[in-house]
Amino acid sequence: MEICQIEKVTMKLAQRVSQVTPSITLAIAAKAKAMKAEGIDVCSFSAGEPDFDTPAHIKAAAVKALEDGKTKYGAASGEPGLRDAIARKLSFENNLDFKPENIIVTNGGKHSLYNLILALIEPGDEVIIPAPYWLSYPEMVTLAGGKSVIVHTDAANDYKITPQQLRASITPNTKLFILNSPSNPTGMVYTPEEIKAIADVIVEKDILVVSDEIYEKILYDGAKHVSIGSLGAEIFARTIISNGFAKGYSMTGWRIGYLAGPDDLIKATITIQSHSTSNVCTFAQYGAIAALDGDQNCIEEMRLAFAKRREVMYDRLNAIPGLNCPKPDGAFYLLPDIKKTGLKSLDFCNKLLEQHQVAVIPGIAFGADDTVRLSYATDMATIEKGMDRLEKFVRSKI
Ligand SMILES: *Cc1c(COP(=O)(O)O)cnc(C)c1O
Repeated sequence: MEICQIEKVTMKLAQRVSQVTPSITLAIAAKAKAMKAEGIDVCSFSAGEPDFDTPAHIKAAAVKALEDGKTKYGAASGEPGLRDAIARKLSFENNLDFKPENIIVTNGGKHSLYNLILALIEPGDEVIIPAPYWLSYPEMVTLAGGKSVIVHTDAANDYKITPQQLRASITPNTKLFILNSPSNPTGMVYTPEEIKAIADVIVEKDILVVSDEIYEKILYDGAKHVSIGSLGAEIFARTIISNGFAKGYSMTGWRIGYLAGPDDLIKATITIQSHSTSNVCTFAQYGAIAALDGDQNCIEEMRLAFAKRREVMYDRLNAIPGLNCPKPDGAFYLLPDIKKTGLKSLDFCNKLLEQHQVAVIPGIAFGADDTVRLSYATDMATIEKGMDRLEKFVRSKI
């Protein structure tokens, strides 16, 4: 048989590809993993997911659904039972009055946001994003042809956007503001008063807000999560909620999230989803129903474990001369300022990983080059060992 010669065709990729950057977070995590595979003892604080297994009753519900034959295509908008359960949850826990028709089940919170941006944003539209931000927000806006307006916030103000900053960044082209509380990467939680002040600006300027509430269950020291849409009819009409099961229920790999919002918008996202991904994995959605309807103790157990680790990592970080880190009330991240080391974040992370085998995420990925992100979604022994190494590294730099 003749051997075919492999022919290489030069293709011109769509321009949108060159405008987005691959995830730096994933690149560092991959490098740490490769080092581990070589047998190197790496302490990784790069994780963007809980280190716990999914609670057993949630897994059992998905297994049962699989055995019951929930293996076919379903409605693109989601299983009716799950949309009902989400509507009940939003009403009961968040004081948001959405009907099941106002909800779409998506392939994770990330996909919720992407559906939303595709349905809403077009060239000429501006989206206001406070930095440090979750790194996918601006990339999604770029993919939709819109413009991200990045508003830098200060450590002194706990990395929160002020109503004045928000007002000043609104132009006639502003369509959407992205609010993320508790925040990734800062861990900060806006107080009810701060949420109210932001809501007032949104109503006054008549723009929309998407509230990414994926970390709402992971709170400390009595912090309260208030959903911005619950503060009155005017702000409710301008609010879209994005949430999911990944963080609170430790279900990252399941890929289930949801978006709740005004009729026309949700209908548009269902149309987009019906031509792109169709329904979310059918039997997985039954696990999500069990998560919402079942015992919520599992969340509390994970939260308590995070709370202990947060104390240890926070104390250790702030005891290192040259690092300065505000204390966050939510999520599972700490974001120390590294300015005094004289290193830019990427350089800091590469040297720390190569010289001391500790993996952290460079703040440049979040629009904050003076910071690095540490996740404490890992065991206490790793935290202690990693902090010893980090301390040695930082002391050698200042
Ligand atoms: C993890 C995360 C999400 C969504 O994650 P999914 O796994 O897609 O549900 C959304 N927003 C932020 C800020 C996150 O950290």
